[in-house]
Amino acid sequence: MKREFAVIGLGRFGGSICRELSEEGMDVLAIDTDEDKVNEFKDIASHAVIADATDENALKELGIRNIDHVIVAIGDNIHASILATLILKELGTKTLTVKAQNDYHEKVLNKIGADHVVHPERDMGRRIAHNIISNNILDYIELSDDHSVVEVKAGSKMRGKSLIDLDIRAQYGCNVVAIKRNRDIIVSPRATENIKESDVLIVIGADIDISRFEKHLV
Ligand code: ADP
Repeated sequence: MKREFAVIGLGRFGGSICRELSEEGMDVLAIDTDEDKVNEFKDIASHAVIADATDENALKELGIRNIDHVIVAIGDNIHASILATLILKELGTKTLTVKAQNDYHEKVLNKIGADHVVHPERDMGRRIAHNIISNNILDYIELSDDHSVVEVKAGSKMRGKSLIDLDIRAQYGCNVVAIKRNRDIIVSPRATENIKESDVLIVIGADIDISRFEKHLV
């Protein structure tokens, strides 16, 4: 089923969302104040229009009220991003995802009722930092301030042992939710599953527990 989206701000972030949604066959209205940007998306999005998202009437005329999910991806202009979010909230947008530029911006967006606030530079920076600190951590997703999901290479101490031998949940308080093995992914592996040399484990838990697990076993 096609769902309707609007992406406001067609910079690197908004542009990439617009492309992906369109490639997935979604109906996307692409909006930017910059004519060149709008032209770039004419053949990608279902509709691409020049409009200022801080202009309530312009948004009304575009029928933004009828769109399920609006993504505000205005970059540096924090003022415009906040104003656009307020207007969209008032117009009754069902789901509003807004890109934050910094922590203060994020706080304001949460206060004025943005449904999802994303902070791509900060989050990607954190992921890459975790990757750099530990050669074994391949990816990292923050679930909250103190819980994460990590992708970690199976350490030499694990090889040939089963999850029950390693007793990860009892010893470290974290859970192996999946194992990537070559091109396969074993979701909810059985306790008797033996870890192989090239396995990648997907582990969920408190940061403090994941870090102990990584120190001792990876
Ligand atoms: P990124 O960091 O994701 O590349 P940019 O700051 O380069 O973000 O891009 C933000 C986009 O938002 C720009 O294309 C800019 O023209 C657009 N933009 C800025 N203000 C408004 C506004 N009031 N209404 C619509 N689009 C806007």
